[in-house]
Amino acid sequence: RAKAEGRGGFRFFDDSLTASARHRIEMETRLRRAIEAGELELHYQPQVEIASGRIIGAEALVRWRDGERGLVPPDAFIPVAEQTGMIGLLGEWVLREACRQGREWRDAGLAVPRLAVNLSARQLHDESLVERVRAVLDETGYPPDRLELELTESALMHQQERSVRVLRALRRLGLHLAIDDFGTGYSSLAYLRQFPIDVLKIDKRFVDDLAENNDDREIAGAILAMGHALRLSVIAEGVETEAQLAFLRANGCDTYQGYLFSPPLPPAAFARLLAE
Ligand code: C2E
Ligand code: MG
Ligand code: MG
Ligand code: MG
Repeated sequence: RAKAEGRGGFRFFDDSLTASARHRIEMETRLRRAIEAGELELHYQPQVEIASGRIIGAEALVRWRDGERGLVPPDAFIPVAEQTGMIGLLGEWVLREACRQGREWRDAGLAVPRLAVNLSARQLHDESLVERVRAVLDETGYPPDRLELELTESALMHQQERSVRVLRALRRLGLHLAIDDFGTGYSSLAYLRQFPIDVLKIDKRFVDDLAENNDDREIAGAILAMGHALRLSVIAEGVETEAQLAFLRANGCDTYQGYLFSPPLPPAAFARLLAE
C-alpha cells in the first residue's frame, strides 16, 4: 500500500509494485479515459445462414482507437478490464452502443439482423446485470428479441445455479443466449441442457483445420450433433475457406461467420453491406 510520505513514500509505492501490477493500473487509467473520451468503437461481423446465404445476425466486437497505437484489438485490453473490474463499465458501454446503433439503423429503414454482444464472466455474476440490460433496452428502444448475448462455458460453469437463474431472467426479457467458444470448456450434454440457451458457437480452433484434421472433423461433428439434439442453433466462427464451409454445410451447421464472408466491419461499411 502506498502511503503519503512525500518522495520517500512514493518510491516505496513504486518499488513495492510488480511490473505487471503497474501495467494493470496504468492500463486501467487509460481505459477509463478512453471510455470517457469516446475512443471505443464497435465493429460488426456478419453471421450468415448457410442454407440461404442471408445475413441473419452480426457480432459486435469492441476496438479501441488509440491516438498512439491505432486500432487496438480487444485481446490487448479485455483481459486487463476483467482483472481490474473495468469490464463492468466497458461491457455496459458495449451493450448500450450496440443497441443504440441497432436502433439507429432500424430508424433509417435498414433490415438489421440480430446483434450479438459478448458478455464477460464478471458481468454475468454482477447482481445488477438483468436490471442493467433491461435499462439499456428501455433507454435505447431496441427490440429485445433482436439482441443475443454471448457467454463462455467457463463463465457459466462458475456458480451454475446462479447462472441458470440469471439466464432465465434474461430470456424472460426476450433476449437470445449463445455459448461462445464452445468446445474449449468441459460441458457435457447433461450439463448443457440445464441452461436455457439458443445457440452454440463452435470455437475457431476446431474450424481452422476442418479440411485436413480428422479429429477436428469429429469434434465439430459431435458439437453439431449435441447442439441439434438439444434443439439449439449451431454457428461456426472463424470460417476462412470454402473447404471449411463445405464440411459445415454437409454436416448441417446452421450459420457461420468468418473472413470467408467478411471480417468485422466499421458501422458504415456494415450498413452498406446491409443495404445491398
Ligand atoms: P470472440 O467473441 O470469440 O470473437 C471472435 C473473434 O474471432 C473476433 O476477434 C473476430 O474478429 C475473430 N474472427 C472472426 N472471423 C475470423 C476469421 O475468419 N479468421 C480469424 N483469424 N479471426 C476471425 P476479436 O474482434 O479480436 O475479438 C477477440 C475476443 O475479444 C472475442 O472473441 C471476445 O472474446 C473478446 N471481445 C471482443 N469484444 C468484446 C466485448 O465487447 N466484450 C467482451 N467481454 N469481450 C469482447
Ligand atoms: Mg463472441
Ligand atoms: Mg467466439
Ligand atoms: Mg474466440
